[in-house]
Amino acid sequence: MSRQGPMKVLVTGGSGLVGTAIQQVVKEEGRDGEEEWIFLSSKDADLTNCEETLAVFHKHRPTHVIHLAAMVGGLFKNMKYNLDFWRKNVFINDNVLQAAHEVGVVKVVSCLSTCIFPDKTSYPIDETMIHDGPPHQSNFGYAYAKRMIDVHNRAYFQQHGRCFTAVIPTNVFGPHDNFSIEDGHVLPGLIHKAYLAQKEGKPLTVWGSGTPRRQFIYSLDLARLFLWVLREYPEVDPIILSVGEEDEVSIREAADAVVESLGFTGEVVYDTSKADGQFKKTASNAKLHRYRPDFQFTPFRQALKETCDWFVANYDSARK
Ligand code: NAP
Ligand code: GDP
Repeated sequence: MSRQGPMKVLVTGGSGLVGTAIQQVVKEEGRDGEEEWIFLSSKDADLTNCEETLAVFHKHRPTHVIHLAAMVGGLFKNMKYNLDFWRKNVFINDNVLQAAHEVGVVKVVSCLSTCIFPDKTSYPIDETMIHDGPPHQSNFGYAYAKRMIDVHNRAYFQQHGRCFTAVIPTNVFGPHDNFSIEDGHVLPGLIHKAYLAQKEGKPLTVWGSGTPRRQFIYSLDLARLFLWVLREYPEVDPIILSVGEEDEVSIREAADAVVESLGFTGEVVYDTSKADGQFKKTASNAKLHRYRPDFQFTPFRQALKETCDWFVANYDSARK
């Protein structure tokens, strides 16, 4: 989408995994004089609160918004807190999109996830299938809350002509992730567990069978694509941001890659009493490829090595 005048971009959730990656890419690729960027954390406003949300939007009066703020977590946190995932995310999304509308924001790019797609489906999954059937039961609270952003977007367009859209990334990883063993996603969880196991001379325990399959996207690649979506992508309909179907890996392969990246030398065991979650959610990146045939993803092993190196170098201050 082309536009006149400078953009003032407000990033909700600007302090998280994806938000800090966008901060880094803006430093490298930002357009001085054409774009001003403001990164919010929960300290600036609790976005579950309507008044605080409106106040922060009135304070900054953005022309554009990247909406990342959300209650986020891996499989095991989702299984425990479906109600909180549903309520918090529904409140945050309704408050943010309505505040954006009220201050006249030209474009909002929100963030969905491939884990919101139907559990029983054909593969590869594409953008048209979001509402085609129930999500996996492990994360239905998060999934339905995120699906409703797509409903918001279509309704803001229909009723007010707003260009509110969304991206659909796969499982994200990178520096500044949440490396909590209990609550985080699989790669940061395994990195933290392997780091401790190496230090303590203990085995690394991978949860579940290791057979489920996932597509992983490096936070810095996602951040670059976010900038493109904000500046150029013209549709209200969402777009999947994913590596190719051929780059999907099993959890076992992902664990092996963590072992190699960290130089872990101990035994690796699988705790099959723990849940596997959704077996796979193989997503098509055909739409992305049509728009951006030139885009090069960082090779998985390289991105994982950079993430492990960051975690080791920042162990004391990392979120865990
Ligand atoms: P994250 O690292 O956990 O960051 C979450 C961000 O949201 C933080 O900046 C946090 O602020 C903010 N936040 C949370 N609750 C808030 C509240 N009540 N009010 C204001 N701000 C609040 O998450 P992430 O992985 O970067 O996720 C960013 C987006 O990507 C989310 O929408 C998520 O659903 C989506 N996504 C993530 C993944 C993944 O694998 N991580 C995959 C697909 C989609 P504080 O730092 O102050 O807590
Ligand atoms: P998902 O991709 O949304 O399902 O969420 P996760 O990133 O939490 O990945 C969950 C998958 O990784 C499941 O198949 C788990 O059994 C497996 N897994 C293996 N070890 C771990 C771990 O230490 N933490 C997490 N979160 N998942 C793990």
